[in-house]
Amino acid sequence: MKKILITRKLIKESEDKAVKTFTPIFNTNDELYSQKKVIEMSNGCDGILSSLTDKMDKQTIDKLPDTIKIISNFAVGFGNIDLEAAKSRGIAVTNTPEVLSDATAEIGILLILGACRRAAEGIQSAQEGGWKWSADYLIGKQLTGTRLGVLGMGRIGQKIAKIARSMIIHYHNRSKLSEEKEQGAVYHKDIKSLFSVSDVLSICCPATKETENMINKETVEYFPKGAVITNVARGDIVDDEALIDALNRRKIYAVGLDVYKNEPNLNPGYSKIKSAFILPHLGSATKDTRIAMANLAIDNIDEFFKTGNCKNKVN
Ligand code: NAP
Repeated sequence: MKKILITRKLIKESEDKAVKTFTPIFNTNDELYSQKKVIEMSNGCDGILSSLTDKMDKQTIDKLPDTIKIISNFAVGFGNIDLEAAKSRGIAVTNTPEVLSDATAEIGILLILGACRRAAEGIQSAQEGGWKWSADYLIGKQLTGTRLGVLGMGRIGQKIAKIARSMIIHYHNRSKLSEEKEQGAVYHKDIKSLFSVSDVLSICCPATKETENMINKETVEYFPKGAVITNVARGDIVDDEALIDALNRRKIYAVGLDVYKNEPNLNPGYSKIKSAFILPHLGSATKDTRIAMANLAIDNIDEFFKTGNCKNKVN
């Protein structure tokens, strides 16, 4: 049986499956391994089941033993892995698409609702007690009939658009979708055009060199005054300083973030903004989804060693 290093603790059902599929090396304490430790522990292994907390950069990949043939990432995003470095060492990289789209879209909707309806302030007031109802108490932004811009109308973006049907959906991808996938959403061929009609933006595209800091000092000005920006994708897509400045100037009304740069350390600028509705990367955090993701990451390894290829290979 193939020997596989599993860098983070999995839910029991998935660890049981791993035992049946290969010889796993488990991280029983769920310790956050350093890059050095991942290299050491992969000695004698055939593959690594990694998670988004493992930074598999070129330096790390170049030092992995020659026996490593696959890095199976326990996530749909793979911005934590240098795909080219892996390819040049003959290491396949796989991800876990589809199985987490519903759970992540639900968090995408929670971000939109939480930011627009001032949930962070509301929760704090309710917990402190003593709040007084009045006609203008914590009034927020109503969503029905307003425009939702989806940046990255892929698997998750399309599911968010489907749930948010009472809004008018606009989107930008590099390529226009078929009418069947668009479901009436309006395509914009550039971000300036999309942002200028986005009362609310939902960021759903992957973190790549192209999308890094797509929300920045210049692009934040494209939005209508008082727009709301939400991000369920990856923190690297947002220049936090530019967004915090826009929030402080009330150019942007509120933010909803499930992800941010330097997780778990939030830019302190956000903590001072009452309208910031921020979650600790909960996108795929339901039991069924986490089991499905881990099982798919295990199946990817199995398929790869049985057939020499894998449908979820990304490099
Ligand atoms: P997907 O199906 O591949 O969709 C990505 C979409 O982004 C595609 O429509 C793609 O269209 C578009 N896109 C890619 N590069 C772009 C660019 N440079 N400019 C504009 N649009 C671009 O991926 P998914 O499964 O929906 O996942 C999306 C991302 O969500 C993942 O990469 C991951 O980082 C994040 N995520 C977060 C969580 C969480 O816990 N918060 C959970 C799951 C996923 P084109 O190729 O036509 O441009």
